[in-house]
Amino acid sequence: MQQKVLIVGGGFGGIRTALDLAKKGGFEITLISKNPNFEYYPGLHKILGISERVTVQVPLATIFKNKQVTLVIDTVVEVDLEQKRVTTNTGVFQGDFLVIAVGSQTEYFGIAGLPEMAYGFKSVAEAKKLRAHIETLFEKHAKTEKTETVVGLHMVIVGAGPNGVDLAGELASLDKYLAKKYGVLESFITVDLIEAGSRVLGMMSESVSHQVEQRLRSLGVNILCNRELRKEDSWTVKFADMTIGAQTLVWTAGIITNELVTKIKGLTLAKRNRVIVDNYLQPTNGESVFKDVFCIGDIADTKYAGLAQTALSDGTYVARTISKESAGKHLKNYSAKPVAYNIGVGPRWAVLTIGSFETFGLLPHVMRTLIDIRFFLSILPVREVWKLYSK
Ligand SMILES: Cc1cc2nc3c(=O)[nH]c(=O)nc-3n(C[C@H](O)[C@H](O)[C@H](O)COP(=O)(O)OP(=O)(O)OC[C@H]3O[C@@H](n4cnc5c(N)ncnc54)[C@H](O)[C@@H]3O)c2cc1C
Repeated sequence: MQQKVLIVGGGFGGIRTALDLAKKGGFEITLISKNPNFEYYPGLHKILGISERVTVQVPLATIFKNKQVTLVIDTVVEVDLEQKRVTTNTGVFQGDFLVIAVGSQTEYFGIAGLPEMAYGFKSVAEAKKLRAHIETLFEKHAKTEKTETVVGLHMVIVGAGPNGVDLAGELASLDKYLAKKYGVLESFITVDLIEAGSRVLGMMSESVSHQVEQRLRSLGVNILCNRELRKEDSWTVKFADMTIGAQTLVWTAGIITNELVTKIKGLTLAKRNRVIVDNYLQPTNGESVFKDVFCIGDIADTKYAGLAQTALSDGTYVARTISKESAGKHLKNYSAKPVAYNIGVGPRWAVLTIGSFETFGLLPHVMRTLIDIRFFLSILPVREVWKLYSK
């Protein structure tokens, strides 16, 4: 009889596990995801771009067409690790193996007004909402008086990590385009990138921060470091030393493991609610282990968690481990794969870092496009990738 593999999450980790296992064959695979689409977060900033061509989501049904994977589009509300059983809004599923890959969500750190007022940038829906809001602002402020226009077209991005930097570059370029389109003076527009740490991209080298800051400034972005957000009201954003009048605040400064993880009994959680796992990515409290249950991607407390690259390599590792285990073969320990950073900053400019190697400008931008295409080719047949890019 075929062994059952239950996968929760149709993101990077979940789809990679399911595709690799389907390729190996011999398993009854069920993938449960609350979103019918796979969302390609590294491409989210393109929704704010000027070009209409945007490749950021693919129906899971297209990815798993002709694959031995049963898709269930539903929200998982309960997980029993002992039984390897999950409960969704409409049913109960049980497997011989359980893979949990539910990703992360935005964290607001209890800052007053933030969840209600701020724009998030963590899903296609949020990116589209922000894009529509910006367009509406320009439409409206093409006709308002000076002070109202200046406040209305003041945009604040909080968090200068890869997501905030990418977004700031894209937003500054979009603003210029919309200013022309609606006949608004560029001097009425302000884009602030605000960071609690002492520099942008604090996890990278100082030379990368320096180059990226220069690039952002050339695009017209104001960079304010060492500022922690205290409060957001409908028209004002409060920091320790200043209050900014702005109608748009985009929050990219906090990320935490999906709240489902905190509801699963038996998991031991580390910083940012990441799940402590053993050498095979199985949840553990240091003494006992939930055997044949795997936590992968953003939710696992591994060295490079929080990146798509890690979620993909976790998926590949877990598929291999499940396959070996069911064949009674020796299992290899998990080892975190080193990651590379390729971050776009406005049109045709990016930074690429691999270990201590760093490069900036057009070439990394081209490489980023190639990386996107290579990724889609790894989950879709060539004709589907062609369709995506020729839409
Ligand atoms: C704007 C942005 C840009 C990024 N850029 C990069 C980049 O350039 N390079 C890089 O390496 N990383 C990047 N990342 C990080 C990367 O996207 C994540 O690390 C990656 O998505 C994690 O994969 P995952 O499989 O753990 O989770 P996800 O890809 O988030 O997938 C989680 C899945 O679980 C599903 N789900 C959640 N809750 C439930 C539930 N209760 N029931 C059923 N299904 C559920 C979701 O619908 C989703 O399908 C970026 C992230 C963002 C937000």
